[in-house]
Order: sequence, then structure tokens, then C-alpha cells
Amino acid sequence: MFDKLVRSSRRTLSIEINSKLEVIVRSPNRASIADINNFVLKHKNWIDQKKNFIRNKKAAKAPIYGLELGKLLFIGKEYEAVKDNSIKSILNFDGKIFKYNSENTVQQRQSLELWYKLQARKVIENRITIFSDQMNIKYKKWRISNAEHRWGSCSSKGTISLNWRLILAPLTIIDYVVIHELAHLKQMNHSISFWNIVSLYDSNFKSHRNWLKKNDSLLYF
Ligand SMILES: [Zn+2]
Repeated sequence: MFDKLVRSSRRTLSIEINSKLEVIVRSPNRASIADINNFVLKHKNWIDQKKNFIRNKKAAKAPIYGLELGKLLFIGKEYEAVKDNSIKSILNFDGKIFKYNSENTVQQRQSLELWYKLQARKVIENRITIFSDQMNIKYKKWRISNAEHRWGSCSSKGTISLNWRLILAPLTIIDYVVIHELAHLKQMNHSISFWNIVSLYDSNFKSHRNWLKKNDSLLYF
């Protein structure tokens, strides 16, 4: 009925489900096993629902991209990744296929991240120059960020930070985030006037914003 019982000087019973789907009951020191079992039984529906929720969340988050999974995303396109011992560097991309020659998954991952960051720097530099001109908004400098679940930010001093993971997303999405952050240099909020500026340069900004929300786990592989 439950996997773990933790007794303490608490006054009430409680149930929690951990990420391993174990049912953990916290109970007062003096509660009887019969009372605890009754409590768990009474919450059986809640437990099942919660377990399903965790299960679904895990399934949705299971990575589908990565060197070891044989495919990678780059600017919105899917590419094959194969192990090839004949290449000289750890990682190589010829525009069609990714090749890697390391057995060490940590090293593989580091090389891949480094490569992505390099590409992000090049591509975003290009896009930010284009939109800064178009929007006639000057920024002081921009940098690559590694923020957790944050695509871009903009400081009051005019520094724009953009997440390197954006390089996995389609160009329209990269452009949306670039436009969004540049617009913040005119409007440091998410007011109607802010979105009006964004919409002038990205008429599909709403769908691009939703794309990012929906595909968060794709980019955080
Ligand atoms: Zn914003």
C-alpha cells in the first residue's frame, strides 16, 4: 500500500509520491498501522492520479536528441549522428551528418555543447545585427547565456543575453527571441506597447512564443 513510512513528532498524516513513484507516508509517532492503512486507502485515487501525472511528465521529458541517440537538432532541422573512428576531432559536422569518435559520453557532450555555443555565437551575431538595424535599436553588447529555462534577458545597461540552446530551434524562433530582447531596450516590460514593437518585426510572435513553451524539453536535451 505504501513504500516508506516516516514517523515523527508531527500531528497529521500525509502522503507524497517521489520521482521513483514510491508512496511515502509521514505519520505522527503514535499513529497505528490500521489508521495509516485507512488513510492511504482513502487517498487511493489521489495516489493513482499523481503517479500517472509523474509517469506522463517523465515520458514527455525523455530526450529524443543526443549523440548517443543518433540524432541531433540544429537550427530547427534534424540530423543523423554516427560514430566514426576515422575522424580526427571528437565531433565533426559536414552540413549533412554529425560524426563523433569518442566513447566517453562526458567528452561527447562537452564537445557537442562547445560546438553548439560556437554556432549560436555566429548565427545570433548575424541575426542581432540585422534586427538591430531594422528596428533601429542599439544594444551595448550581447553574450551567450547558459540560463536554466530562460531564452533571453536584457539588462538596463543594454546588455542582451541569449541562451545558446536557441541554436537548436528554427531560425524564426531565434529571430523572435532576438526581436523580443531588442524590444526590451525600448520597453523594459511586457506591456501592450512592448508587444506592439515585437509584432512590427514578428507578426507571428504569439505562435513563436508558444513554440518555445511547448518545445522547452527539446532544447534542454
Ligand atoms: Zn521579455
